[in-house]
Amino acid sequence: MLARISRSRITARASIAVLAAGVFALAGLALWSTAMTERATARVAVAAEVGDAWGHLFDHVNLEEDMMRAYLGTYDEAQRRAFAQTIGGAQPILDSLRHMGGSDNQIETAQAAEAYRAYTSTLQFIVSSVRDVAKVETYEQQGESAAAAVRQLVSASLASERQASRTYNEGVDRASHALRVAATTAFSICLALLAMCSAFLLGYQRRVERQAAASRHDAMHDALTGLANRTLLADRVSLAMAAGRRHGTHVGLILIDLDGFKEVNDTLGHKFGDLVLQKVAARLNATIRDGDTVARLGGDEFAILLPELASGEQATTIAERLLEVLRRPIDIEQYLLEVGASIGIAVYPTNCDSAEQLLQNADIAMYAAKRGHLGIAEYDSSQNSHHPKQLTLLAELRRALEGGEIVLHYQPKADTGTGQICGVEALARWQHPLHGLMGPLEFIPLAEQGGLIELLTIHVLAEALDQCRKWGREGLHLPVAVNISSKCLADSDFPGKVSALLSANEVAPDMLTLEITETSVISNPDQALNVLRQVRALGVRLSVDDFGTGYSSMAYLQDMPITEVKIDRCFISRMNDEDQSRAIVHAVLDLARNLNLQVVAEGVEDQQTWDELSALGCDISQGFFFSKPLPPAELADWITRQGAGRAQPVA
Ligand code: C2E
Ligand code: CA
Ligand code: CA
Repeated sequence: MLARISRSRITARASIAVLAAGVFALAGLALWSTAMTERATARVAVAAEVGDAWGHLFDHVNLEEDMMRAYLGTYDEAQRRAFAQTIGGAQPILDSLRHMGGSDNQIETAQAAEAYRAYTSTLQFIVSSVRDVAKVETYEQQGESAAAAVRQLVSASLASERQASRTYNEGVDRASHALRVAATTAFSICLALLAMCSAFLLGYQRRVERQAAASRHDAMHDALTGLANRTLLADRVSLAMAAGRRHGTHVGLILIDLDGFKEVNDTLGHKFGDLVLQKVAARLNATIRDGDTVARLGGDEFAILLPELASGEQATTIAERLLEVLRRPIDIEQYLLEVGASIGIAVYPTNCDSAEQLLQNADIAMYAAKRGHLGIAEYDSSQNSHHPKQLTLLAELRRALEGGEIVLHYQPKADTGTGQICGVEALARWQHPLHGLMGPLEFIPLAEQGGLIELLTIHVLAEALDQCRKWGREGLHLPVAVNISSKCLADSDFPGKVSALLSANEVAPDMLTLEITETSVISNPDQALNVLRQVRALGVRLSVDDFGTGYSSMAYLQDMPITEVKIDRCFISRMNDEDQSRAIVHAVLDLARNLNLQVVAEGVEDQQTWDELSALGCDISQGFFFSKPLPPAELADWITRQGAGRAQPVA
C-alpha cells in the first residue's frame, strides 16, 4: 500500500514537473511569436518605404520626360528653365534608396542610379542644345529611351521587392502556422497534464485522508477484534456520565474476564486463542443494545458500557444475558470449547462519581466475581480490600506505619457558649509517597479488613499522647480525642496498652477521650463493655461517635460507661433545613442532659448552626466553621491567632 502511495507520489511529482515545463514552453512560444510579429511588422514597413521610394522615382522620371516633351515642343525659355530645374530631382530618392532594404535592393539601386545618370545626362544635353527642328525628334527619342531604361529598372526593382515581400510573408505565414500548431500542442499537453495532476493529487489527498481515518480508527480500536480499546472506552464513559448527569439516567459498566482462557492459549496456541477472542467479541456485539459500547481492554478482558439506563438493575439483567451467551460452547475447527466468564458490574451514580472510579469499581467487582466463582458480582465497597490494588496498598500501609507516613491532623473543638477551644480530635492521614496526602476513609477500612487496625490505633494513640504532652510543656492544655476501632474493644489487653501509653507520655487519663461507635459495641457487647469499663476505670473519658446513626442507641447508652456523645454530622448539617433533624438534635440534647453526658455537635459548618446549637444548650461544637483539622504546627499558629493561647478545657 505504502509502495503504491509512494509510486503515485512520484508520478504526481513527475507530472507536475512536466506541467511546469509545458507552461515554460508556452511562455517561450508566446515570446517567440511576439518577436516574430515585431520583425514582420518592421519588414513590412521597410518594404512599404522601399516600394514608395521606387514609386516616387518612377513618377519623377515621368515628370522629367513630360517636361522634356513640353520643352522640345516650344523651345520656350521659361519651359527650358523649368525643365532644367526638374532634371536630377530624383537623385535624393536614389540616395535614400541606397540605405534601404537588403543587398538585392542596393544592387538594383546602383543599376537604377547608373541608368538615371545616363537619363539625366541625355536631358542635360537636350537643355543645353540649341533649337534645331530636325533634331527635335531625335532628342525626344533619346530622352524617351533613356527614361524607358530607368523605368524598366524601377519596375524590375519594384517587382523584385514585391516578390521578396511575398516570399517573406509566406515564410512568416509558415512560421506562425508552426507556432500555432506548437502552441496548440503544448496547450493540449499542459491541459492533459493538469487533468492528470489533479487526478493524482485528488487521489493522493483521498488516500491520505483514508490513511488518517484508518490511523484514528487504529488508535481507538483493538486490532484483533475491531472493538473499542481502553482509550475510546474511557472517552465514551465520560460522555455517557455527562449525559447521565443531564438526563438523570444511570450508566452501567460491565467488566468481563474469560475463565479458562489462559488454558486454551497454553494448550492450543495463541492463534487459536485469538480465534476464541474474535468469537467472543462477535457474541458480545450481537448481544448488546444499540448505543452500547463493547471494548477489549487487553488479554481476555472485555468491557461493556451501558449508557442511558433507567436503573442499575438493568445492567444486571444485561450481564446475566451476556454470561448466558458466553457460557455457550464455542465451536472452532474440530473443538467445542467451554469458556465461562466472570463479570463485574458498577453503576453510575450509585457507587461512584468519576469515570476512573466507575472503571475501577467494575474491576473490583469483576475480581470479586472471579475470586468467589460467582459468575456475576455487583460492586460494593466491602470488595475493595480484596482487590489487587488494595492489596498493594495494604502491604504499603504496614510499611507506612513503621516509616512514619501515618500522620495526625487535629481538629479543634470549642465551647459553644464561649467559643473557647476545649480540646482536639486526632484524625489520621497517610502521607503517601505516590498518592499524596490520603484521607482516613481511603485506608482505615483497608486497615480494618487487613488486620492492621489495632496497630494503627496504637500508633495514633501514642502519637496523640506524645503531642498532648508537648502541648502541655508549651503551656497548651489541650485534651485529645482518639478514634478507636471495634477490634480494639475485642482485645482484652487494650486497657493495659492505653494505661502504658498514658504513663509513658506522662499524660493525665482525663486528658484523653476515646471515641467509639455504637456498632462497635453491638458485635460483642459483653467483651466490649468489659474493655470499656476497664478503660473508664483508668480515668479515660469515653465518647460515642456518630451518635444517632447506630441501631439501638438507647438500650446501650445506659450500660456503657460513657461521658460524652457526639451527634453525627448528618443531623447537624441538616438541622437548619429539616425539622426532623432539628428534633433529633433536640432529643439527643435532652437525653444527654438527663444522663449527665456531655454533648459534642460535629460538622458545624456555619454561624446559623452554631447559634442554634448555642441556643439549644449544646456544650461543644466541632466543625469547619470553627476550624478544619490541622497539622500540629498549624494548629499552634491558629490558636495563637485566635488569642486563646492559654485555652482551658470546659469542665
Ligand atoms: P469522624 O470520627 O466522624 O471524624 C470527623 C470527620 O468529619 C473528619 O473527617 C473531619 O475532617 C470531618 N469534619 C469535621 N468537621 C466537618 C465539617 O464541618 N463538615 C464536614 N463535612 N466534615 C467535617 P476525616 O478526617 O476524613 O475522618 C473521617 C473518619 O475517619 C472519621 O470520622 C473516623 O471515623 C475515621 N478516622 C479518622 N482517623 C482515625 C483513626 O485514627 N482511627 C480510626 N479508627 N478511625 C479514624
Ligand atoms: Ca471521631
Ligand atoms: Ca463522627
